[in-house]
Amino acid sequence: MKQHLLPVLKNIQVSQRYWLMVVDRTSMPENVDPGQFFHLRTTEALSPFLRRPLSVYRITETTLEFLYLVKGAGTVEMTKKETGDTLDVLGPLGQGFQLGSQKEILLTARGVGIATLAALAQKAVENGTGCTAILSARTKDDLLSGEMLEEMGVQVYRVTEEQGNSDVKAVEAQMREIIEQKDIDSLYTCGSRRLSLLNQRLLHEYGLQGEIALEEQMGCAMGACFSCVSPIQKDGKEHSVRVCYEGPVFPMEQVVIS
Ligand SMILES: Cc1cc2nc3c(=O)[nH]c(=O)nc-3n(C[C@H](O)[C@H](O)[C@H](O)COP(=O)(O)OP(=O)(O)OC[C@H]3O[C@@H](n4cnc5c(N)ncnc54)[C@H](O)[C@@H]3O)c2cc1C
Repeated sequence: MKQHLLPVLKNIQVSQRYWLMVVDRTSMPENVDPGQFFHLRTTEALSPFLRRPLSVYRITETTLEFLYLVKGAGTVEMTKKETGDTLDVLGPLGQGFQLGSQKEILLTARGVGIATLAALAQKAVENGTGCTAILSARTKDDLLSGEMLEEMGVQVYRVTEEQGNSDVKAVEAQMREIIEQKDIDSLYTCGSRRLSLLNQRLLHEYGLQGEIALEEQMGCAMGACFSCVSPIQKDGKEHSVRVCYEGPVFPMEQVVIS
């Protein structure tokens, strides 16, 4: 079991609903790949008992960052961590994104989906792969990471319900324009069922590669409890896979979205 006790360097509120935690990972020998996640113990108390899974948002040689939406008991407990406290994590867990010889990639993130895709953008830019991102959210306040991605060299498009430009039809038009103008070869998405369906449709139509990062409620996060199973389509048959173990990142064409 890959358990680590990592010093908290920073834990700050970055918008009305989102927080950012930075931990020191110098004691952790494992490499961490974009799309992998950690299973976090949010409190020393018995409740909430289950750990909570969070993707790695940014990776440096010495730190890991988690961007999290404050949703329920576990993430509320996380906001109480202070600099100098310790974060108990299991990980890195799961299979991350496959980034190979792609030249131009397009990321579509809805809401906190950017917490999973930002590390991929970071790696793409480091590898010299062109990267464009569409960030979608309910409100302007929920649009996170845009400036950080732009500073990295990612071209960022922002859409919100507030502005009325985040419906599937509008995002589809924007995606088509980007795919055609930039000669995109791979699509990546996280955070929305409707945007996943749209990505799958465009992947087939344009003959692209792509991956989806799935989210399911998890118990153990190590493949033993089967609480996070999800269907995928492979070799003409539907299979049940464990999001924590075989995923959370899957080939886009295999994911069954219901
Ligand atoms: C791979 C992965 C990566 C993720 N990355 C991020 C991220 O980077 N940022 C982010 O904000 N969110 C991320 N999420 C979502 C995040 O894990 C949830 O928002 C978080 O767990 C909510 O916890 P909570 O206690 O605050 O909310 P609640 O809604 O209170 O907690 C979730 C509820 O589900 C229950 N539960 C959990 N697992 C099970 C189970 N197996 N069976 C039954 N009940 C269960 C809990 O006990 C709890 O009651 C990710 C999820 C996955 C699967």
